[in-house]
Amino acid sequence: MIANLVGGKWSEPSGRESLPVFNPATGEVIEQVPLSGAQEVERAVEAALKAYAHWSVSAIGERAQLMFRYKALLETHAEALAAIVTRHHGKTLDEARGEVRRGIDVVDFACGAPTLLQGRTLRAVSREVDQDYYRYPVGVVAGITPFNFPVMIPLWMFPLAVMAGNTFVLKPSERTPLGAVRLAELFLEAGFPEGVLNLVHGAQETVDALLSHPGVSAVSFVGSEPVARYVYQQAARNRKRVQAAGGAKNHIFVMPDADLSLAIPAILNSAFGNAGERCLAGSVAVAIAGAGKALVERLAAETRKLRVGPGDQSGIDIGPLIRDEHRRRVLGHIERGIREGARPVVDGRDDAYLGRAGFFLGPTILDQVTAEMAAAREEIFGPVLSVADAAQLKDAIAQANRVEYGNMAAIFTDSGKSAREFRERIEAGMVGINVGVAQPFAFYPFSGWKSSFYGDLHIHGTDGVDFYTRKKVVVSRW
Ligand code: NAD
Repeated sequence: MIANLVGGKWSEPSGRESLPVFNPATGEVIEQVPLSGAQEVERAVEAALKAYAHWSVSAIGERAQLMFRYKALLETHAEALAAIVTRHHGKTLDEARGEVRRGIDVVDFACGAPTLLQGRTLRAVSREVDQDYYRYPVGVVAGITPFNFPVMIPLWMFPLAVMAGNTFVLKPSERTPLGAVRLAELFLEAGFPEGVLNLVHGAQETVDALLSHPGVSAVSFVGSEPVARYVYQQAARNRKRVQAAGGAKNHIFVMPDADLSLAIPAILNSAFGNAGERCLAGSVAVAIAGAGKALVERLAAETRKLRVGPGDQSGIDIGPLIRDEHRRRVLGHIERGIREGARPVVDGRDDAYLGRAGFFLGPTILDQVTAEMAAAREEIFGPVLSVADAAQLKDAIAQANRVEYGNMAAIFTDSGKSAREFRERIEAGMVGINVGVAQPFAFYPFSGWKSSFYGDLHIHGTDGVDFYTRKKVVVSRW
């Protein structure tokens, strides 16, 4: 059984139920994760509150030195972290390496805290009166993370939070808890004091205990839309600051003037990378003004070349899904799409994948998807790409804007005019122009819109600094 980290000590909660952690490529159980309850959460929040008393007033330079040491340890252990990700998530090693890199990017950003945490001053706001603001930490922050990026998403949160002087209780995904365990071990090795980062494993009950604990001042959440909405409402009801990133249904537009040699691999990587289990996955390709036929044929031909298999083997493009139960859900989406009239030009429901150990599913392309079909509106979170047509760019934009999500959208075009029109009118917070996965770098916020994000200040970037600090304004006359 894997252990919780409370006040610098690892311990298994006694008498608690547990869940299996799988290797999705083999279907084998590799660990057990405990389902912590209110008592374990109480201990972790107490430890974080105790550490907050001294950590929140520690010198920023000392904190930065610890974070630089952490960054060096993460670099040294990057390959081992990637292997852990692949082992219990299933994505390919290259994808896992990319995830670890994007996580370390946020640690790099957090190392800049002595600059990022500076306040502002305006002298002489009135005669002989000056005004300043200082940034203060908010207190104990709880972080709740999803299964699909077991290293990167925890790193989106706690490095920046602790650099701002907060202490942290992390509740990793119960399906992929092992990345966070290794991150926490390295955090202690870097020399951070006990109680600054705590780890409590579990699921809904654990989250509920965090959301109702009066010692928790702020909540960072990433996961599915219904849970994001629930966490946002509950945390706000309990007077906590909250940022909650949810699901997605991302559209990729292809104009007739697009360079298909650039667009095709980018769309395939966007749709099928990480086996489609990515909130920035391109899920609907929209062929505009007759771009359709050539697009579908080339997408299908290239998709048939993709190799599905265990992520730790070389030459593999698509790893398994996270669980058999999730695979069945994705199969249900494919069946529904076909029932509603979509044409499966590549069908991943092949015994070569479904019949073997592990939770594999081949890539699928559904053509002739229309705006009314579920395949154009609902998050599938698997290797399924819908292809739709639109007469003009403005029709495609209107169609995409009717979807409840607004995480990412992308366009492939050679026309600056089309790209600008798209950028101006698409209702998505992350926009790709000739880029299939428009992930903001760590120094910019991860900016989902509509039902893809509940809150005001997004995760990481300068939004992250604002979220993890509160401002005190001082008006002084001497
Ligand atoms: P999930 O919502 O099932 O779980 C996320 C976290 O919430 C986990 O830690 C889980 O234990 C907890 N949780 C689950 N059900 C709960 C409940 N009823 N009450 C309280 N807590 C609960 O999400 P997932 O399946 O792990 O992750 C995939 C989802 O996350 C997808 O929808 C994906 O789009 C989304 N996601 C969004 C972003 C983003 O930045 N917008 C990034 C990654 C993933």
